[in-house]
Order: sequence, then C-alpha cells, then structure tokens
Amino acid sequence: MSVAPPRGSVAVLTGAGISAESGLSTFRGAGGLWEGHRVEEVAHPSAWARDPVTVWRFYEARRVQAAACAPNKGHLGLARLERRLGGRFTLATQNVDGLHGQAGSANVLELHGSLWRVRCTACGREEENRTVPLPVLPPRCAACGGLQRPAIVWFGEVLPEDVFTAAMEAASRCALFLIVGTSAVVQPAASLAVIAADGGAQVWEINPDETPATGVCDRIWRAPAGEVMDDVVEEAIRWVSGAGSR
Ligand SMILES: [Zn+2]
Repeated sequence: MSVAPPRGSVAVLTGAGISAESGLSTFRGAGGLWEGHRVEEVAHPSAWARDPVTVWRFYEARRVQAAACAPNKGHLGLARLERRLGGRFTLATQNVDGLHGQAGSANVLELHGSLWRVRCTACGREEENRTVPLPVLPPRCAACGGLQRPAIVWFGEVLPEDVFTAAMEAASRCALFLIVGTSAVVQPAASLAVIAADGGAQVWEINPDETPATGVCDRIWRAPAGEVMDDVVEEAIRWVSGAGSR
C-alpha cells in the first residue's frame, strides 16, 4: 500500500482506447490488414525503403481520419487535470493523433511520434505539417529537397530516448499514475505502470477491459475514459492533495 505524499504529481499513460472513443480506428480491418498489407509491415523501415508512396498513402489516410476527429471527454478531462495541477503533471501517450494537444494538454510526451510532424530522411530536419490532404506524396524538405517521412516510431525502431527517459522519470517520481485506454502490451511503454508502482505511486486503471497492468493497479474504472473521466479527475485531485481515503 502506498503512502500519499501531501503534494504529489500525477503521471498518465494513454493508448488507442481513448482515441477510439473519438471515432479513430486502428486501421486494422478484417484480419488486421490495411489494403491487404499487415500494418506492422507498412509501418516499418523496410516498407519505406521499398515503397515510400504506399507508406505515405497509409499515413495520409490516418491524417485525414484524425483531422476529422475531435477530442472527447477523456482527453478534455486530462487537460483539465493538468490545468488544476500546474507543473505537477506529465502525460505520456502512445497515440500519434494529436488529440491531447487539441484538447489543451501542454506537457505531452508523444512516445510514438506524431502524425502532424515530418522528418527529412536526407538532412534530418523535422517540422510540423498539418496540411490535409498533402498535395504531393511523399512531401519534400524545403531545405534540401530530400524525401520527408512521417515522424512516427515505426515497428523495428526504438522510441526517442529523451522522450522515453522523461516518461520514466515522471512515472518513477509521481504520487499517482493513471493508465488510460491502453492494452498495456506494447513495450516499453507498458512498463511505465510497473515503474510507477515500484516507486510507490498509486496506480489507477481506466479501461473497459482487464489488461496485463491490472495486477499492479490500486483502483480500477472498468469503463471508457470519456464516461468516467470527470470522476477520475476529482478523485485524482483529492488524492494528490493528501485527502485520499488511504
Ligand atoms: Zn532536408
């Protein structure tokens, strides 16, 4: 059992479930395929080397879909929690759709990158690009003319070290860790809940389904985030203010 620090911080990990509530699909149809391809094969450096246009068509479809979606009460609740806690809040997300930022979250660690950033494969220059649809696929770097790729962490690539280190530090130091809408099977992000629990934090899970992280959780909301986030936010503020019931 954890001891409630009087004035603690909150760290959060979110996954695809919270964005599914905004209507965002995982782009896996019947059999887990996109246009006959396994997603793991399209979102992969070898696909880029072989056929960058097909890779971009996949991400273009995701950008078009994400641009048509709005943040839901789950995203908005987490943004409100951040405003209430000031600097004592870190949100790490496995999502690449940008909906947390759109909801007003400021301190967001995008563990798997962003649909709205592109990186030049020749000179490494990275920039925001929110044009939907893109006029030409693949887009080209204004500085050197090189092909730009989505600034997304593909299968077979490692997470950006500085981003993941910041997420681990937030998890290890927080008083309360929320794990929201993630199946908690994608490593290393899923290990954040264990790091938080080992550091003595309360761990709360908000997910309709049981996950591998459930075992380390102190409280569980078996519901979609949008339905219960108002309650979670109030409980979280009470907990980190030292008014927790345990
Ligand atoms: Zn360039």
